[in-house]
Amino acid sequence: MNSIQNDIQEKFASPSNLLDPEEFKRQGHMIIDFLADYYKNIHKYPVRSQVKPGYLKNRLPESAPNDAEPIESILKDIQNDIIPGLTHWQSPRYFAYFPFSTSIAGFLGEMLSAGLCVNAFSWITSPAATELESIVMNWLGKMLSLPESFLFSGNGGGVLQGTASEAILCTIIAARDRMLNKIGRANICKLVVYGSDQTHSCVQKGAHIAGIHPKNFRAIATSKSNAFSLPVESLRSTILADIEAGLVPFFLCATVGTTTSTAVDPVGLLCHVAKDYNIWVHVDAAYAGSACICPEFRHFIDGVENVDSFSFNAHKWLFTNFDCCCLWVRDPSALIKALSISPEYLKNKETESKQVVDYKDWQIGLSRRFRALKLWLVLRSYGVANIRNFLRSHVRLAKHFEGLVAKDKRFEIVVPRTFSMVCFRLLPPIPLVEMTSDVGDSRDQIVTIHEARVNELNMKLLESINDSGEASLTHGVLGGVYIIRFVVAATLTEERHVNMAWKAVQGHADALVP
Ligand SMILES: *Cc1c(COP(=O)(O)O)cnc(C)c1O
Repeated sequence: MNSIQNDIQEKFASPSNLLDPEEFKRQGHMIIDFLADYYKNIHKYPVRSQVKPGYLKNRLPESAPNDAEPIESILKDIQNDIIPGLTHWQSPRYFAYFPFSTSIAGFLGEMLSAGLCVNAFSWITSPAATELESIVMNWLGKMLSLPESFLFSGNGGGVLQGTASEAILCTIIAARDRMLNKIGRANICKLVVYGSDQTHSCVQKGAHIAGIHPKNFRAIATSKSNAFSLPVESLRSTILADIEAGLVPFFLCATVGTTTSTAVDPVGLLCHVAKDYNIWVHVDAAYAGSACICPEFRHFIDGVENVDSFSFNAHKWLFTNFDCCCLWVRDPSALIKALSISPEYLKNKETESKQVVDYKDWQIGLSRRFRALKLWLVLRSYGVANIRNFLRSHVRLAKHFEGLVAKDKRFEIVVPRTFSMVCFRLLPPIPLVEMTSDVGDSRDQIVTIHEARVNELNMKLLESINDSGEASLTHGVLGGVYIIRFVVAATLTEERHVNMAWKAVQGHADALVP
C-alpha cells in the first residue's frame, strides 16, 4: 500500500467519514468542474458511442477493489473508459428517439434531491417533499390549462412518477379495479384495452402486467390518410364487436404525439365514444405534452376535460433531468383504492387524519425520490415565458430542417411536421428495380420491390450517419415505409447544428446514390 492509499484508508476509519463536509465540498466541486468541462467539450465527441459490445470488461478489473481509491483516479477512468462508451444525449447534434433534456436548474434540482436524500413515501416522512410535489403539479396543471378537476383544488391531483410506463401501468390498474369492482374479479379475462397501432408499447406492457389477457389488447389500425391518428369510427366498431362477443371494454389510451411520427389522436372525439361505454381514457403525451404549455399548441389536448388521466414526461422536453413523469388523475381515489397499502409499521396519525397525501398510494413502489425539487427549480429559474420560448425555438429549428429537406428533390417528407420532429426519407426518383425477367412485368410487384429497396437504402443511410458520429438520428416504420426521425429538442442545439446534421445527411446520401 502506498502512502496515498494509506491516507485514504485512515480517512475511512468510520462510516461517518463518508459524509465529511470538507471532503464533500472538495469532491463535489471536482465533479461539478468535470461536468462543466464535459458540456464545454461535448460537441467534440462522436454523438453515438462507437464502442463494440463488451468493450468495458477489457478495461476494468474483474473484482471490486479491496482498498479505497482516490476520486482523482476514479474521475480519470470516467474520462478514459466511461465517456467513450456513452451516446451523448446532450450533444447539440443529438436528434434521435426523443430527447432526455437537462439544464442547469434541472441538474441542480436532481443534485439537491440526491444530496438531501429523503424518502418521501408518506407525508410524515418528509412533508416538504409531498407538499412541494402537489404544489408543482398544480402549477404545471395550470400551465397546461388542465381542467380544475385535475388539480388538488378540484379534487383531482397530480403525482410525479419515474416513467410514462409506470404512470400508465398505474392508471390501467386503477381502471381495471374500478371495472372489476363493478362486474366481479372473476371477469378479468373479459377486460379489453384500446389504443392504435401507433400507441407506445408501454401500454401493451402495462396491460400485460395488470393481468389483461394478451388477446384483449386492441391496436386499431391507422393509415397515412388520417396522419396515423386513431380513427374514431374504427374505435366505435371495435368496441361494439367486443361487447357483442361478451367482452368488457375498460381502458383507452389516446396519444398526443406518437413516438414514430408525433401523430395526435382526436382526444375529444375519442372521449365521446369512450363515455358511452364507461371506459377509462388516458392521454399519453409523453413528448408533446411539453409543447402544450404554449397557447398555440394547447388545442392538441382539447377534450382533456373529459379524460380520466393525463401524463407527460418533463424529462423529455421540459429541461428537467430524468426521471420526471407528470401524471394527473381526475379521481385519485380510484388510484388509491387500487394501490394503497397500510402495514402497521407505516401507520401514523397524520395519515389517519386524512388531511395529507401519502404518495406511496399513487405509485407501484413504496420508496420515492424528492422529484418535485428539480421541476420547482426549472420553473423558477427560467419562468414560464422563457420555457415556452425555448420550446418554440426548437419547433422553429425543426421547421428550418423541414425546409432544407424539402429543397432537396432526392428526399421526401413522409408526414407533415406537427411539433419539433421531422419524418423524412431518401427517395431517389429513378426506380430501383430494373425490368428483368425474374421480376416479371407486374407493376404492383415492381412497386413493392422498389419500396423494399428504398427502405433498405434509408436503413443504410441512417446507419452510415450514426456510424460517423456526426449526428445521431433514429428510425421508425410507418405503413411499411422506413422513415428517418429528426427530433430537435436537445438543450444545446442551435441552427448551426441543424445545418451540420443536414450536411451530414446529404453527404452520406451522396455516397449511397451518387
Ligand atoms: C417515450 C414515450 C413513452 C415511454 O416513456 P417512458 O417514460 O420511458 O416509459 C410512452 N409514450 C410515448 C408517446 C413516448 O414517446
